[in-house]
Amino acid sequence: MDSITSFILEGARFRGVYIGADKVVQDILDCHSYPLVVQKILGQSIILALALAQSIKYQGVFSFQVRSSGPVQSLFVNVTHDKQVRAYAVYEEEKLPTEDELTNEALFGNGELLFSVTQLGQEPYQGIISLTGKTLTDTVLDYFRLSEQIKTDLILRQKEGKTRCLMLQQMPLKEGDDAEEVASLYETADVLMNSVKDAELFTDKLVPEQLLYRLFHANDLTVYEPVVPHFSCSCHKDQMKRFLSRLTDQEREELYQDGQIMTECQFCQTQYVFKHEDFN
Ligand SMILES: [Zn+2]
Repeated sequence: MDSITSFILEGARFRGVYIGADKVVQDILDCHSYPLVVQKILGQSIILALALAQSIKYQGVFSFQVRSSGPVQSLFVNVTHDKQVRAYAVYEEEKLPTEDELTNEALFGNGELLFSVTQLGQEPYQGIISLTGKTLTDTVLDYFRLSEQIKTDLILRQKEGKTRCLMLQQMPLKEGDDAEEVASLYETADVLMNSVKDAELFTDKLVPEQLLYRLFHANDLTVYEPVVPHFSCSCHKDQMKRFLSRLTDQEREELYQDGQIMTECQFCQTQYVFKHEDFN
């Protein structure tokens, strides 16, 4: 079952999360007919967005967006604070690399990764980083290292349409902490996290708590109640109507075909049809 399972180690000196979201990813992919390489990189993006969203406290919408001039021009993921997820990709099919080439260079060429949080009554938060490193995971790690200055490690693995992620982060030192000692504890936890085998990540026989216990039982582990993410799109006909209403009469007139304007939500492919009388 899909879950986002947070945990802490060593008296909350480190925090982490384990994520599996097969159903969410599949439900999103079912709205589209993306080639395998796009399915894979969108699956990675959804899991990375969930991992990043997990490291922030917010009430609203977290957005994860890749923009590039390469074959995959755009990847867009939204995660609400209650873990409703939606996503889509824009790409040029004939230029796509094979599904074995999920590198930033092959997929995006030059590009950037943007994060933002939109929440009621607060200034929007934004982060941006160019697509450094070999993979999107490397870019996310660079973001934490450069922008947030949080010691972070993250492993992301994919197998037969499933994606798994484990992330470990060091929290600020507590009063009286010996920095070297904490650094050494972090190294140990990180080695343990990286020792995880595919057979453990992709089996149905271990629930997240059991997997985390296997890895970190000697590291003062506390596992929190898992949260289940869901695919859900917040699009609505009224929203589309408001957008179209803001256009000038002439701009809107150009969108009519056979007496109607047909719009489609990029996230869920729901079609909304408008006629002249909708705008009277
Ligand atoms: Zn939608």
